[in-house]
Amino acid sequence: MTEAIHVLDPQGDVLLTLDPNTTFLVFSNALTKASPYFKTCLEEPWNGSQTGRGGRRELEAGGWDEGAFLTVLRLIHGLNQDVPQKVDLTRMTKIAMVVDYYQCADAVSRFTSPWLISQHCRLWRVTSIQKLELWIFLAWVFKDHSTFKHATCNAAASLDRRFVTRRVPIPDGIVETINRDRLTYLSGRFAVLDNLLQELQQPESTLACSAECRSTLFSSLSEQMRGKGLFDRSACGDFERFSQANTWSLLRDFNDPQTCSPGNADGEGVSADTENVPCSLKKILKERFRDAPAPSPGLNLRQFMQYRGRDRWGDDHRAWEDSLWALPLDEPEPSVDTNHVQW
Ligand SMILES: [Zn+2]
Repeated sequence: MTEAIHVLDPQGDVLLTLDPNTTFLVFSNALTKASPYFKTCLEEPWNGSQTGRGGRRELEAGGWDEGAFLTVLRLIHGLNQDVPQKVDLTRMTKIAMVVDYYQCADAVSRFTSPWLISQHCRLWRVTSIQKLELWIFLAWVFKDHSTFKHATCNAAASLDRRFVTRRVPIPDGIVETINRDRLTYLSGRFAVLDNLLQELQQPESTLACSAECRSTLFSSLSEQMRGKGLFDRSACGDFERFSQANTWSLLRDFNDPQTCSPGNADGEGVSADTENVPCSLKKILKERFRDAPAPSPGLNLRQFMQYRGRDRWGDDHRAWEDSLWALPLDEPEPSVDTNHVQW
């Protein structure tokens, strides 16, 4: 197999080796300006073993997707006209992985910002957690506040189990906050139901006008909760199967049983003071859900700045690259033409 040398700068003084057959001739100044990682590397004194062909310094940069790595190097060298015109979500994620590892988001923002703007409208409809995981990572790496808020909001609404990031190194602090917000919402909503059931069992409860109404409300609530599968959740502390979105629709349509309250079919026993008739499940639940935690509106990127850094990557970034390859997206992502981008 012949060796491929990608020449980013004919006067380059550094050779980056991706694998034995793929090398990039690059200019150290461009690398150190764009990336604190390369700055540290290249400012270290040379040792003999790092000096290679033509007296150039050689550095290993193994394991990356060749196209993604080449795109980042071209952007770092100002060769904006040579980067791909069409970039899909998976390809952009591979680019983001290189950018995050070498901490060079600012150097590539002329390419990534227009892409994010052109793609943002697609995000409205995305509920697939596999895709949202990539979107959250992209927004995080490229520091796009509105995309980050939007993607984390969609994830919080759609997740029906704990969020676990498998394909891209999203900081733990972000993952934990998404999980915490989801659990806060769900446990708050379910607590409303549990507390109401308990209160309706208390003889001194003032929730209903009479013991009879109280017992009717209790049986109706527990029956409807059983019908909606809401008692099955006790076995799993993570509220598996329940998302903000499906819980919202499950909880909004409780029916009122036949009590003394107005609005029932027969209207029997309607109190003279209809305004104060308490015996309506809908009315009680409406008031209580209003005071329960609201759905997550999405996270604020500024609150997660302290997680920037390379610790997350561990010793071997190849493991992340492999996992990204191993799990295909559930449906192909349409390509987007970035022809209109003005450099
Ligand atoms: Zn009543």
